[in-house]
Amino acid sequence: MQYVKYSAYLKTASLGFSELSCPHCGAPVLSLRNKEAICHLCEGFVSTAHEELLQKNEALYSGLFKIHGLIAANSVEDALSLLETISASLPDGDIRPAYGAAVIYALISDYKYYSVNYNLPGFMEENSKNIYTSLDLISKSKKLLYKTIKSVDSAEDGEADESLLYLKFISYIKLKRMADARDALYGFRNLKSTGLQYEYAKMVYTVEAGASDAWGFLQPMLNGSYPNAFAYFARYMAKNEKTAKARLEAKLILSELMKRCYMPQMQFFIRRIDAAEEETKI
Ligand SMILES: [Zn+2]
Repeated sequence: MQYVKYSAYLKTASLGFSELSCPHCGAPVLSLRNKEAICHLCEGFVSTAHEELLQKNEALYSGLFKIHGLIAANSVEDALSLLETISASLPDGDIRPAYGAAVIYALISDYKYYSVNYNLPGFMEENSKNIYTSLDLISKSKKLLYKTIKSVDSAEDGEADESLLYLKFISYIKLKRMADARDALYGFRNLKSTGLQYEYAKMVYTVEAGASDAWGFLQPMLNGSYPNAFAYFARYMAKNEKTAKARLEAKLILSELMKRCYMPQMQFFIRRIDAAEEETKI
């Protein structure tokens, strides 16, 4: 397998030339070329600079930028209360921030869930509170993802607009509705798409669906040095190879990636890989 090659590459790689900001979730995103990228956190399509977003909607985006600063500083409670404020007044006419908020809710849900301490004596009240908060945040996240899909479906050109179609596809992926994600993927084929969004969507779908030809879609994205492709490579290894060595390599790749890109969600994927490791020991 090629993971040794790719983990060695990642140690020295420069994964981006310019920094953009995500119009969905407000996260910082590295771009390689043509000012086009996929967000490292929410996987939305990105082609906007920080300043452009502030000019567009200063209140919204300065709030979203602040949330990521708070998450990076581990102030998750403050990030959540800011997210609640932002979600209460999402803009009309642009569904992207609703999708971004959905992904941030799911991220904070993971922070809550993984802060449960099973070493506490008995089942502490604080633990059950964190579990209930985590479930509540997941349901808020799902609600916003369905809202995103509904909004794309009701847009007159929803099926003909590549960006909207991609948003629908990636929302289905986040909801783990693979059959619907596959139908959205067929929509790209009908549009005869050739751009980044379609190439990325094919990679995501084949890895997540465990398709036998996933490697064929993963490799060109890895060779193109798209940061997220390395995260999917790690997922592919952890899911398909099922050996201790593959899981270790997957974790090494994710750790290297997290040093270079804003991907706070990957710490929880590492925890899930560790949990899978524990299960095999039982
Ligand atoms: Zn984003």
